[in-house]
Amino acid sequence: MTGLKPGALTIFRSGFWAAFVFFCLLPGLVSADSLSLEGPLTQGGLVIGKTEPGAKVSINGRSVRVSPEGRFLIGFGRDAKKTARLRISHPDGALTDRSLKIKRRAYKVQRIDGLPTKQVTPGPKELARIKDDNAKIAAVRRLDSTKTFFASGFQWPAQGPISGVFGSQRILNGNPRRPHNGIDVAAPRGSPVFAATGGTVALAHPDMFLTGKTVMIDHGHGLTSVYVHMDKILVTEGQLIEKGTPIGTIGKTGRVTGPHLHWGVSLFGTHLDPGLLVGPPVVKP
Ligand SMILES: [Zn+2]
Repeated sequence: MTGLKPGALTIFRSGFWAAFVFFCLLPGLVSADSLSLEGPLTQGGLVIGKTEPGAKVSINGRSVRVSPEGRFLIGFGRDAKKTARLRISHPDGALTDRSLKIKRRAYKVQRIDGLPTKQVTPGPKELARIKDDNAKIAAVRRLDSTKTFFASGFQWPAQGPISGVFGSQRILNGNPRRPHNGIDVAAPRGSPVFAATGGTVALAHPDMFLTGKTVMIDHGHGLTSVYVHMDKILVTEGQLIEKGTPIGTIGKTGRVTGPHLHWGVSLFGTHLDPGLLVGPPVVKP
């Protein structure tokens, strides 16, 4: 398995020798299954699981897609509860039922003042546009494709200082808003934006009210990434792209105070921390 940062957790359901001995003594009664989980068991974390092909997996009672190789994804939101229930029905009828401990995090509070009033408190016309934009974004986040691009790991989509972190509570012109659901990379207008990993371009929108020029990529199994406020879009909907493909340039379209890339990663409707998928940020000297 590749792609997630060091510190990844691997759990073997049964050690090799234990499995070997049991398998010899009790043929047919004990499965030689193993379960590996790679990625941080923390709020905002994405975990890539691997079990046997043909197994059925559910997390907190919701079933998740399992690839023909036995790969599956689970993710934990900003405010995920301290335990999550992972259940696996193995092809031989055995059942794994595991309670996962999810690490809690503390989040920052961030104040942003000086935003145009029209964009902080939108009128009916703006609200209609926002609703329409959100419906398009939500439709992409419902995709559950068979692709497994997530297995090849992630890279930073842009270079520059981090100007906004995942999970922070934003206070815009004094009004508390929803927590920040991605990472902001500050860089001059025109700087390149790359696909964090491969996938299919599921949305390339030239003008969303809040997010401006917006691209979304479907990486498979419900995992999508979004690239927001861009100056130029260099890809089209339906296009298959590789990790590192240039998809646009940094801009300040939509609701922003200056040029930056907002990068978000979601597993279906659950926002994850993109920073946990990559190493330390790449900042130009
Ligand atoms: Zn942002």
